Amino acid sequence: MSEHHDIPELTPAEQIRVRAMVSDMTEVASGLRAGTAAAEDVEGAVARIMSVDVDRHTMLNALHVPADAGPFAPALETILRRIPDGWGRWIGHDAGWYPIVVAIDQRLSAIDPEYVVHQIKEKFGTLRYYCAPSAEEPGPSVLDAFRAIIGDAERASAITCERCGEPGVLHEIRYLVKTLCAACADSLGYMPVQQGTT
Ligand SMILES: [Zn+2]
Repeated sequence: MSEHHDIPELTPAEQIRVRAMVSDMTEVASGLRAGTAAAEDVEGAVARIMSVDVDRHTMLNALHVPADAGPFAPALETILRRIPDGWGRWIGHDAGWYPIVVAIDQRLSAIDPEYVVHQIKEKFGTLRYYCAPSAEEPGPSVLDAFRAIIGDAERASAITCERCGEPGVLHEIRYLVKTLCAACADSLGYMPVQQGTT
């Protein structure tokens, strides 16, 4: 993989402020979904964002390895280093899917060691792994292989709890959906989506 000597680093103090901000935002977001967040909770989270005081370039381009990455931290850092400047080097889903994205990266890098990642996030309850082969005009077999690997991962995410990695199904709360196991759904206040009854 190509070396990135220009990736800015957050100072330890900045890392703590960013993690506190992300943690407050996660908390207030789940409070808003559950309908339990009060005005002062939202104000507190906004105050925390304002206090982060990290410049935009550093914030976007620093490596935001998730605080809960555990044993997946080195593999996730490898993936984040594939993201070009300006896209935001972070992962937009919960810890239960870290093994899935690490497996995607292993399969894609076996085909194209220099492939590029643009964004990794949850959308409509499943994983989105936006990436591209390194070649400007990749052959059809490479594109087919990329599509197959990403499709496999998206299907795996649809049956894996995004929070803890146990088997899961689609759940909802106030029109928001998330793939969760029964225990995580219970603790977050989500209900199973009734499939095929509409
Ligand atoms: Zn779970």
